[in-house]
Amino acid sequence: MTDVQPKRGRLWIVATPIGNLDDLSPRARDVLRAVALVAAEDTRHSAPLLAHAGSRARTLALHEHNEREQAERIVERLLAGDDVALVSDAGTPLISDPGFRLVRAAREAGCEVSPVPGPCAAIAALSVAGLPSDRFAFEGFLPAKGSARRERLQALAAEPRSLIFYESSHRIVESLLDMVAVFGATREAALARELTKLFETIIAAPLGVVHARVVADANQQRGEFVVIVAGAQGDDADAQLAEGRRVFALLREELPPARAAKLAAAISGAPRKLLYAERSDERS
Ligand code: SAM
Repeated sequence: MTDVQPKRGRLWIVATPIGNLDDLSPRARDVLRAVALVAAEDTRHSAPLLAHAGSRARTLALHEHNEREQAERIVERLLAGDDVALVSDAGTPLISDPGFRLVRAAREAGCEVSPVPGPCAAIAALSVAGLPSDRFAFEGFLPAKGSARRERLQALAAEPRSLIFYESSHRIVESLLDMVAVFGATREAALARELTKLFETIIAAPLGVVHARVVADANQQRGEFVVIVAGAQGDDADAQLAEGRRVFALLREELPPARAAKLAAAISGAPRKLLYAERSDERS
């Protein structure tokens, strides 16, 4: 007699609207109706969406503070044969949202994981920014603390790909100011606010102009934001590297190479690793 393995359930990663409920796809609706369980970042927040989809599935909260334990429980359900959907408060789960641990745990347990693609604020913003979209770097949220935020931005100053950031209303003004300071007021950018909602606004302009317009109008400081910044042009990157080398050479007279490279990178925006790697030229 052969052992019959019980059929495992499938984990569905379901993208949901970032504002306009009509963006829920028919396939997302069908999956939310069909599964036995919906894992949601905030079950109360997702209740209207599930009602809109006509889903009567049981819900379970899965957020950054309980993901490890909940992942185990969900994997047990999958192994018992139940299909489970993961949704976040808005957009695509795992994109600056929980779910990574769950997906890993489900895969490790041999369960199938399938996406139901749909809205994602980063991609929606990039699609209307009018900035190069052939290569881009998604940076998610910047650190909340000013010094850590500026350090992160400095590390990206010479990045040639378009940069995508998420930002909240609490910090949009400070973050834009730091971007102007690090990337320069003339760097092209786009601010996408409240996408797909009533007050959707897209400001596509140099960073200095974007910052000035947000500072001048309190309404532009409300809601949810994606900031897209054009990558460094060849000239910017070359100039930063030249400046980085100059500062590194000066600091190197007083400091060990790792420290000198870190400071030179922070001051110039040139890539730290490159400055550090080039130290070998000192010996030749
Ligand atoms: N997983 C989501 C996605 O796929 O876009 C992102 C979740 S993250 C916790 C929330 C952030 O996404 C917000 O702070 C904002 O930066 C951005 N965001 C979400 N909805 C947005 C919208 N309608 N317009 C602009 N930005 C939005």
